[in-house]
Amino acid sequence: MTKNNDLMEKIVSLCKRRGFVYPSSEIYGGFANVYDFGPLGSLLAKNIRDIWIKKMVQERDDVYLIDGSILMHPKAWEASGHTVAFTDPLIQCPACKKRFRADKLEGWQLKKDNQTGRWEVIKQGSLVCPDCKANLIPTVKEFNLLMTTEVGSIAGEKSKVYLKGESCQNIYLNFLPFRDTMTAKFPFGMAQIGKAFRNEITLGKFLFKVREFEQMDIEYFCAPEESDKLYEEWKQTRFNWYIKEMGLSKERLHWRQHSPEERIFYAKDAWDIEYKFFNDFEELEGVHNRSDYDLKQQGKFSGKTLDYFDPTSKKRFIPYIIECSGGLQRTFFAVLVESYREEMIKDEKRIFLKIKPSLAPYKAAVFPLVANKPKLTDKAKNIFNSLKSEFMVAWDDIGNIGKRYRRQDEIGTPWCITVDYQTLEDNTVTIRDRDTMKQERFKIDEIIEYIKEKLK
Ligand code: ATP
Repeated sequence: MTKNNDLMEKIVSLCKRRGFVYPSSEIYGGFANVYDFGPLGSLLAKNIRDIWIKKMVQERDDVYLIDGSILMHPKAWEASGHTVAFTDPLIQCPACKKRFRADKLEGWQLKKDNQTGRWEVIKQGSLVCPDCKANLIPTVKEFNLLMTTEVGSIAGEKSKVYLKGESCQNIYLNFLPFRDTMTAKFPFGMAQIGKAFRNEITLGKFLFKVREFEQMDIEYFCAPEESDKLYEEWKQTRFNWYIKEMGLSKERLHWRQHSPEERIFYAKDAWDIEYKFFNDFEELEGVHNRSDYDLKQQGKFSGKTLDYFDPTSKKRFIPYIIECSGGLQRTFFAVLVESYREEMIKDEKRIFLKIKPSLAPYKAAVFPLVANKPKLTDKAKNIFNSLKSEFMVAWDDIGNIGKRYRRQDEIGTPWCITVDYQTLEDNTVTIRDRDTMKQERFKIDEIIEYIKEKLK
C-alpha cells in the first residue's frame, strides 16, 4: 500500500480527531494492529452493516442471517486446514527486527503448498529491508495466522481452542441444522457478519490489516451444475454493492483473478474485488467458487453427511459453495478514502467527507444561532428532539456557526439545521447542504420529509 500525498495520514488524523477510530490501549502505548471504533466510527460501521444486511438478506428471499459464536470445536479448524495451512511467509530483518511478508516484498514470487502450509520460493527479489535498508537474510519461515486461547477452569486441564481465523466456518457447521429447520428453498445462502482474528505479520496499514476485524460473509449453497451461473450473478451483485451502496467510484474498483499458483487447489474459480486505496489496488472482498470442499471436509472430520436432497430432481448431492467474503474495516477505510475532500474557501481550508447520506453517522445537526438566547435554544431543542426518533442527529451550540458547520463537514453530516431569529417569527429554519454549502429555508414541519426524501 503506497501512500498518496499523505492522504493516509490525513485520514488517520481525522479519524482520531473526530472520534471515528482510536488506536487500541493507547494509554499503554498502543497495541499494534488493533483499533477501536469511537462514537462516529461505530455509527458508520453500523450503517455499513445495516445496508449490507438490508441488501443481501432483507431484500432477497434466499439468504438468511446467522450470528455464530467466536469459539468453535477445534476440530473444525483441522478440517478446514487452518491449523497447518493458514500461513504467511515471514522474513525478519536482522537489524531492525521488523517482520515482512516475503510475497509482498519487491520482486519476490512464492507458492504455498495448501496441504502443508509450506512456502516455496519461486523467485527471490529485493534483499533490502523496506524500513531500515539493512540487508535481509533470505530465510522464509512459515507463520501461522490462527490465534489460540484456552477453555476450562482447572489449571493443567485447559484445552487449546482457536479464535475464528475467518468468520465463515460456522456457517458450514450450521448447514445441517439450517437445512433441517428452515424449510428454505434451494439454492439458499447463509449470511453472517462476524469477528475474525489473525496474527498478521504486516504492520502499519491502519484499518486495512488488523489483527481483529469483522467479515461480512455470504455462503451460497447450490447444485454443482448451477454454480458457474450463480457465481457470475454473485460477482455482479457484490461489485455493484460497493458502487451503489458504498458510493465507491467504478474507476477505483476492479476485479483480479487469482493466478494458478495463488488459487487454492479446490476452488473452481476465484476473483477478488480490489479498490485503489492510494496508488495500488488492494483486496476488498473475495468472491470464490469453493466447490464442495468445505462441506466434504467438515463431513469427513465430524462423521456426518452434509448433503442436500433435491425433491424435484430426486438427486442427493453435496452442495457447491459460492463465497462472498468482504471486510468491514476495509470497506470503512475505502469509504473514507473515497469521500475525503479538501478545498480552499477564501483563505481557509475546508475539510469535508462527501459520504453517502445513508452512510453518514449523523443525518443532520441542529443548531441555535446563538447559545445564550433561551427562545432560540428551546425552539432548536424541540426540533432536535422531534428528529431524534427518526434519525441519528447531532446537537451543537459551541462556538460560532461557521465553526459548527466545519465540525459537521468533517464528520460528513449532510444537513445542518439552524434556528435563527426569523424562526421565532415564521417557524422556518435554514437547511444547509454539506456539499454545496447552500442554505435554503424550510418550514419546521417539512424537515423530516425533506431528509427522508433525500435519503431515498
Ligand atoms: P489479504 O491477502 O489482502 O490480507 P486475504 O486474502 O487473507 O486478504 P480473506 O481471507 O479472503 O483475505 O478474507 C476476506 C476479507 O476479509 C478480505 O477481502 C478483507 O476485506 C478482510 N480481511 C482479511 N484479513 C484482514 C485483516 N487482517 N484486516 C482487515 N480485514 C481483513
